[in-house]
Amino acid sequence: MASKNFSDLKKNIIDKGLCTSCGTCVGVCPVGCIHFDYDQEEPVLEDSCTSCGVCFQVCPGGEIPLLEME
Ligand code: SF4
Ligand code: SF4
Repeated sequence: MASKNFSDLKKNIIDKGLCTSCGTCVGVCPVGCIHFDYDQEEPVLEDSCTSCGVCFQVCPGGEIPLLEME
């Protein structure tokens, strides 16, 4: 399976409203390509993503049991 990248984080977490604005992805990105946009209150990509997958791995947003909560 290909490594996850920022697009996966955006599609699976941020765009689904699961981002808690914790900022962890911004801090862990090894190439520093994620910027936290305080106006939108979400992380945005501001440079080239190398698809290392770290941001997706550390994001706690995916742990939220959305279906159970509904
Ligand atoms: S790690 Fe996940 S929950 Fe935290 S700011 Fe990044 S996308 Fe949002
Ligand atoms: S380089 Fe890695 S940590 Fe940074 S946005 Fe891309 S996949 Fe996420």
